[in-house]
Amino acid sequence: MDTLIYHIDVNSAFLSWEAKNRYNIHKKRLNDDGYHSESYQDIRTIPAVIGGDEEMRHGIVLAKSDSAKKYGIVTGEPLADARKKCPGILVVPPNFDIYAQNSKSFIELLKKYAPYVEQFSIDEAFCDMTGTQKLYGDLTDFAYTLKDIIKNELGFTVNIGISVNKLLAKMASDFKKPDMVHTLFPDEIKDKLWPLPVRNLFFVGRQTALKLSDLGIHTIGDLASMDKNLLIYHFKKHGELIWNYANGIDTDSIIKKDNETKSYGNSQTLAFDVTDERTAKKFLLSLCESVGARIRADKSYVSTITVNITDYEFNNMSHQMSLPSPTNVTERIYDCACTLFEQCWNHSPIRLIGVSAGKATNTGFIQYDMFDSEKYEKLSKLNAAIDSIRNKYGNEAVTRASLARNALPDNDAFKKSKHIKNI
Ligand SMILES: [Mg+2]
Repeated sequence: MDTLIYHIDVNSAFLSWEAKNRYNIHKKRLNDDGYHSESYQDIRTIPAVIGGDEEMRHGIVLAKSDSAKKYGIVTGEPLADARKKCPGILVVPPNFDIYAQNSKSFIELLKKYAPYVEQFSIDEAFCDMTGTQKLYGDLTDFAYTLKDIIKNELGFTVNIGISVNKLLAKMASDFKKPDMVHTLFPDEIKDKLWPLPVRNLFFVGRQTALKLSDLGIHTIGDLASMDKNLLIYHFKKHGELIWNYANGIDTDSIIKKDNETKSYGNSQTLAFDVTDERTAKKFLLSLCESVGARIRADKSYVSTITVNITDYEFNNMSHQMSLPSPTNVTERIYDCACTLFEQCWNHSPIRLIGVSAGKATNTGFIQYDMFDSEKYEKLSKLNAAIDSIRNKYGNEAVTRASLARNALPDNDAFKKSKHIKNI
């Protein structure tokens, strides 16, 4: 059976979710006491941006409305620059609780219609629709139906990209926005993908695009027709990856089928851009601690670990590995997370970092690796002891030396970092 993947991407997610929230508040006020001195304005229709906390994030544009875009405002630029381009622009502070709620209902809705759903970021997911033709008929037609269901039930619009693998589906959803469905099947690559600027290709960041331009590579088609070895020479592993992508080849095209079983994830939006490995690993450790505690609270064990990184330009990097035997030990999860981090971090400043653990089972039987067995058995007991102390006396009762006060370069910023939990 031919694989068929949807990539579903919420249009201007933070802005849409904020607009929806404002509308709900407005409606509630009208209902509660007929309060209507303030007329409702959809922030998606005026020049508006979601602006990072000016103190903590040095005021950066996190999302923008279409009319803000018309002023040349781009995501990631300083708020001060945005204000210069469009004086009087509406700046709305981010509200991560609202984003997390909307993200959750978005994924829950997708799970009602798709056999396998893999969340990719707070506002994006892949759905493996293979074999659902019998249920839904033509799957391009059904994408239009699904898009409208999301709009009517959840109050925001999405783009749906359709193809035979995740990469092409993701590229397709990025075509014209908002509220659209696009296909990008292998026989459409030449016409739809190759004419685009190389910067539009997934995993080609600004720096890479500049270097490619020096090599005379401007479009995705230019990249696709290059000698692969030359790219490997200039960009190492990353060169091979983007050459494959330009040719529509995605080796990670299968959605993890064990995705249905329970997984535990935690991610953190950092209050400052992290540029060094030591600090990043401290954040990783604190995430692994909370993931590990949740796994143990469920009397569960996990077999896959995934690390996600979003950089300051909102590029996502993610790697996953399977463990030889299930675990619930924080240190084990952390060791894997560090390896994954080293593999996928391309040294661009980090804005968000996440750890998730999946393929959960409840079997108490753990076959430890022979050499690690003693170490992890001890750690397992230690973890259980720490959990019970924390359950009794609170999380602050026991703190790892490396996470203790002053162990972080900027302890205040660390504490201020906002959690987006359990998404
Ligand atoms: Mg989006």
